Amino acid sequence: MTVTARFAPSPTGRLHIGNVRTAVLNWLFARKHGGTFILRLDDTDRQRSTEEFAEGIREDLRWLGLVWGREERQSSRTARYDEMAEKLKKAGRLYPCYETEEELERRRKRQLARGEPPIYDRSALRLTDEDRSKLEAEGRRPYWRFRLDNSEPSNPLKPVPTLVDWVDLIRRDQSVDVGSLSDPVMIRTDGTYLYTFTSVVDDIDFGVTHVIRGEDHVTNTGVQIQLFRALGAEPPIFGHHSLLVGADGQALSKRLGHLSVLALREAGFEPMAVLSLAALLGTSEAVEPHQSLDELAKLIDFDHISRAPARFDEAELRSVNARLLHQTPYETVKDRLESMGITGGEAFWFAIRGNITFLADTREWWEVVSQPLTPTIEDEAYCRRAAELLPPPPWDESTWSKWTDAIKADTGRKGRALFHPLRLALTAREQGPELKALLPLIGPERAAARLRGEVA
Ligand code: GLU
Repeated sequence: MTVTARFAPSPTGRLHIGNVRTAVLNWLFARKHGGTFILRLDDTDRQRSTEEFAEGIREDLRWLGLVWGREERQSSRTARYDEMAEKLKKAGRLYPCYETEEELERRRKRQLARGEPPIYDRSALRLTDEDRSKLEAEGRRPYWRFRLDNSEPSNPLKPVPTLVDWVDLIRRDQSVDVGSLSDPVMIRTDGTYLYTFTSVVDDIDFGVTHVIRGEDHVTNTGVQIQLFRALGAEPPIFGHHSLLVGADGQALSKRLGHLSVLALREAGFEPMAVLSLAALLGTSEAVEPHQSLDELAKLIDFDHISRAPARFDEAELRSVNARLLHQTPYETVKDRLESMGITGGEAFWFAIRGNITFLADTREWWEVVSQPLTPTIEDEAYCRRAAELLPPPPWDESTWSKWTDAIKADTGRKGRALFHPLRLALTAREQGPELKALLPLIGPERAAARLRGEVA
């Protein structure tokens, strides 16, 4: 199967965790099938789209590692949209309308008062050439609607129930009744196009085989399937994934600021933690951290994505981040640690990685082993005696048990009474990485001095 998937954000803001879910599902699907992943910038809204946001989106995707094989921008394709719109106008599927927003609103109110559904009554289809010229002479500019294929031939103005069906990659059998929808606007009075139309033209032109997006687009799909057909193209395969909701079950949309990719990155989250969670939430797979996108690609299966909303919980992301780091090989973080001035090598990394949530937490343990600290002395005489019993160098991971065996034999202490004062003196902390690994990193001189209560 040839796969061409696309991720189509509008550059009207930075990416957030909800967008990441769409982006990564598309990326993994394309990867799994050896296909192409297109980045399409939906920037037809000229007021709200900016180059800065477009660059921000690219930066976010690069940080996540979601590289794209092709980039397209809708703002550079107007001539093509004009051409395709012309085709639909000729076929009578795009028709000009002249109502103002107020007129439409009044009509909707009247329909509701009569207990009718507030859908567009197609009055513009009744206009004669003469009517249109008159309206234009009054200075009215048309906007254009797509005439849905939803009526009996005997009465083209009156919609009847009309199901558009497709087999969704995720939701399986789907149907939308386009007989209950207004003919959607495709071109605004200022001549700019709406997303519903431009998206279909692009999907045709770029050979998109699979449209994977949030389930908020299900109704659009009913309309877009008709648009594909009106333009003489076979619709692609659609897959609509569930949306992320907060831990309280409420939509995430109101709180997206601190869930932007940029904010998550600045908070210290690892890209693979964000991606693992975004891809696996709401699936039958356990939400476990994965070290690479290829590993995730092997796992992802659209048959296993639940239709229920996926609950996003920041505490879960922290836990995935921590678990990811706990398994991360030294080579993966070597350069980043060195750029933080952490030169403890693999031994140090293995000693502390199980005790961090964010990579930045490494600094604290690096300071414990490499910088002077004020020890916490719980039991002065005991610590002094322990200092005297420290084995001679060279030290390795077996030093700890040799030393504590010697202390046990000498003092008769065991358990917490034996170990806790040593941890406090050596690290000034109640908890932390295994002392067996930390002790050789602290080294004989520093360890002895700390046990004697000296700042070392
Ligand atoms: N720009 C649209 C959005 O962000 C794209 C939807 C689609 O994938 O077709 O909602």
